[in-house]
Amino acid sequence: MAPTTRTSSDSTSETCDVFIVGGGPAGSTVAALLAQRGLDVVLAEKERHPRFHIGESLLPMNLELFERLGLSDRIRAIAMHKPGAELNSPLNDGPVTLNFSDAWDKAHPYSYQVRRSEFDQILFENCVAQGTRAMQSCRVTAAAFPAEGGVSVTTDSRQDGEKHWLARFLVDASGRDTFLANKLSIKKRNPHHASAALYGHFTGAHRLPGEAQGNISLFWFEHGWFWFIPLLDGTTSVGAVCTPEYLRARKTDPDRFLLDTIALCPVLARRLEDASLVGNATATGNYSYRSEHMAGDRYILLGDAYAFVDPVFSSGVMLAMQSAFLGADVVEACLRNPAKAARSKRHFEKSVGHALRHFSWFIYRMTRPAMLTLFMAPSNRLRIREAILSLLSGDLYRGTPIYRSLFAFRVIYYATSALMFKQTIRAWRASRRSLRVPKPERTA
Ligand SMILES: Cc1cc2nc3c(=O)[nH]c(=O)nc-3n(C[C@H](O)[C@H](O)[C@H](O)COP(=O)(O)OP(=O)(O)OC[C@H]3O[C@@H](n4cnc5c(N)ncnc54)[C@H](O)[C@@H]3O)c2cc1C
Repeated sequence: MAPTTRTSSDSTSETCDVFIVGGGPAGSTVAALLAQRGLDVVLAEKERHPRFHIGESLLPMNLELFERLGLSDRIRAIAMHKPGAELNSPLNDGPVTLNFSDAWDKAHPYSYQVRRSEFDQILFENCVAQGTRAMQSCRVTAAAFPAEGGVSVTTDSRQDGEKHWLARFLVDASGRDTFLANKLSIKKRNPHHASAALYGHFTGAHRLPGEAQGNISLFWFEHGWFWFIPLLDGTTSVGAVCTPEYLRARKTDPDRFLLDTIALCPVLARRLEDASLVGNATATGNYSYRSEHMAGDRYILLGDAYAFVDPVFSSGVMLAMQSAFLGADVVEACLRNPAKAARSKRHFEKSVGHALRHFSWFIYRMTRPAMLTLFMAPSNRLRIREAILSLLSGDLYRGTPIYRSLFAFRVIYYATSALMFKQTIRAWRASRRSLRVPKPERTA
């Protein structure tokens, strides 16, 4: 459908079927799918690709989505092969390795780790190749839902200045900027979880030998946990995910603080003894939130624009891309087959909510001693280990029958927590403390 120009009451608006805010994994994926289906899609990305983004470790179920987008070869070419995860806990003597090949469905035995600048650029170029009218260095500054229908959107870019658009549907894929959730005041702090992160890239880190060199390694320590993500070019991404109160206590610059924090975890420090930080470390504040809903009249929220919990299971990109696949069906139904729109929205909300709920249950408990103990000695009685590995693979959308085994794991977790009563209470108190919102500082 060719773009047309229409005069609105106060200015000239360009029209389109779907306007997408943000060109990260969620935005570029939904844009490619909708443009492929013949809709007139406009996407605005406030930055310019390739740009840095955190979130480099992917899940096996991502690979199926790359296949469906026709991007498997391009993504394989930039990716580190990731067959599993190495877990290191101070409660255990040595590390434990979980391999995706041990999941319930053995057909997805590995995933990838990628530099997000390269990965996001491939997804973005694909949406352009499919026919999306994509603008970079172009920020969406306003959106409104006029009574007469459609969505009016304002963009601002150095090239075109302020510009007005009239779309039939708005997709918010603005990530942790949560553009629409802020505008609609529907963003809520997560009452169950709070964490903040500090991260950087290193050269010269000691990697695991053989095929395991591509594994993500996780290290728990007194203030939270670390990730160690090897990338294809020899760089290693290292980050500390801590309680917000630990990061608030920082007195030094982020580089020094990251190095000092690494020194608190001797097993990781040994892996990095010959390594150097490349560029600067970055700190983020508490990022755990959810919006009150993910779909409304003339809009949907995808990926981080709807919710983000925690990076411990490397699930963010997979959740974002899955929500884009499900969301594309909602947009198409709303625009082409309104009789099916309500059903499509219900399916979208149910599927996205289901995956988030299952990940969240584990995330909220991941620093508890009972959880670490069980993860570090994963028994396959009642096929529990296979079910956990399927969850860790992101296999939550295809009806793989893992839920009885996950339920059995929960029962065992609560029994183990009761047996480890004192440690459980101590960890629970610490997590309650981390949920306290700091009082604003008084000014004279
Ligand atoms: C510390 C940390 C570590 C993480 N590690 C992992 C990991 O290992 N694996 C994993 O899968 N996930 C990880 N994540 C999560 C992952 O980064 C996100 O879940 C994922 O990027 C979400 O994709 P998205 O497309 O929803 O949002 P994003 O990737 O954030 O993309 C949103 C895009 O929208 C653009 N944008 C925002 N506002 C506007 C606007 N007003 N106008 C125009 N453009 C706009 C932004 O520039 C951005 O490009 C991590 C997150 C954090 C905080």
